Amino acid sequence: MSEGNAEEILKRFNIRPNRNRIKVLNAIIGRDHTVSAVELISDLKDIDKTTIYRTLDLFEKKMIIMKDVDLDGVGHYCIRSKPNDPHTHFYCRECHKTMCKEIDKSIELNIVDEMVDSIEIKIVGVCKDCLQKKRS
Ligand SMILES: [Zn+2]
Ligand SMILES: [Zn+2]
Repeated sequence: MSEGNAEEILKRFNIRPNRNRIKVLNAIIGRDHTVSAVELISDLKDIDKTTIYRTLDLFEKKMIIMKDVDLDGVGHYCIRSKPNDPHTHFYCRECHKTMCKEIDKSIELNIVDEMVDSIEIKIVGVCKDCLQKKRS
């Protein structure tokens, strides 16, 4: 779901790009699955926990990232390529990974009076890798 580099994305969303923010954002983009705060903390050992949580809150408020609660009730994050990004999540019930999927059709909603920020569709199934493991 990445579009441009971390620094450009931050600027586009009017966030001052500092070293930690760039690192956190880079750790989120460039994956095809979502990442939890705990995984980010263990990946980014040189940034303290509080900074990571604060950065994630900021990114979420500014709508750069999307927070998604997976089947285990754990919050995971992924990048939005644009506001109201029409992407959805595929939960693998075998490996419990959550993968980002682009949807190629826009969803028409009859909502007139409200402003829609995002639409969530949950897809649950078995991912490609797990299917292959099952077959072999
Ligand atoms: Zn799987
Ligand atoms: Zn996603």
